[in-house]
Amino acid sequence: MKNPNVDEHGYIYGKFQTGEKTWTIMNGKQFTYVLTGDEKSVLIDTFYGYGDFRAFVETITDKPLMVINTHGHFDHTGGNSFWPKCWMSEFATHECKRAFGPELKAIMDSHAYPDYECGVLSDGDVIELGNHTLEIIKIGAHSDGSIAILDKTERILYTGDELEAGQVLCGNFEKHLASMLKLKEREAEFDYINSAHNGTHLVKSYIDDFIKLDRDMIAGTAEKLESAAGFGWSDGAEGFGGGGDRYRYGKAEVIDFSKKKL
Ligand SMILES: [Zn+2]
Repeated sequence: MKNPNVDEHGYIYGKFQTGEKTWTIMNGKQFTYVLTGDEKSVLIDTFYGYGDFRAFVETITDKPLMVINTHGHFDHTGGNSFWPKCWMSEFATHECKRAFGPELKAIMDSHAYPDYECGVLSDGDVIELGNHTLEIIKIGAHSDGSIAILDKTERILYTGDELEAGQVLCGNFEKHLASMLKLKEREAEFDYINSAHNGTHLVKSYIDDFIKLDRDMIAGTAEKLESAAGFGWSDGAEGFGGGGDRYRYGKAEVIDFSKKKL
């Protein structure tokens, strides 16, 4: 029988154990994560839902699985429909089933649970997996529905698309600054950051660089790069919002959508 997780280019997903109770799953330059506990496991984000993603996740854990989305964009929620219930912010419940085009909608509809139930996670919620404890931290600027997940046991912070190694797509830098300051307050509780795109296992000082860049964006003094291209983003791309300018400080880069229609 054909393996659904192999296409003409090879394996769709790769998996790496990156902590005692932490697995990273890779699809291209995007990452999702499985956190395992004695009683249950958590999956953070589900990609677009290509192949048989559920079968792949079940090669990592056979414990009852709680699916959590960092936010409701479809590259993070497309595979939700392999499971009957997924958890996210209230805001994300309104956009998580909005496929990026008819092809992806057809993939979602081919899964077992295209009308999966959405559970709501709120700021400060604690999730106990059995000797492995997580806390939900409400953030949000890239999407108002973003949450960060603080793994208090493995000392890792998961930031979705609100802090990543390539570029944060953002239209409101006051909101982004507030999110970064909120994460900065908690930095004694984690050792590194796992984001969703373009790189993972990031050093904590990314937060400091984003705080400085956000302040410069608000003040209008940030360094604008000649081209918006980079990290899988093409200049004048017609994707999320259609274009936008790139700014950088240190390791932090943003694509500014404040003047564009999101
Ligand atoms: Zn996103």
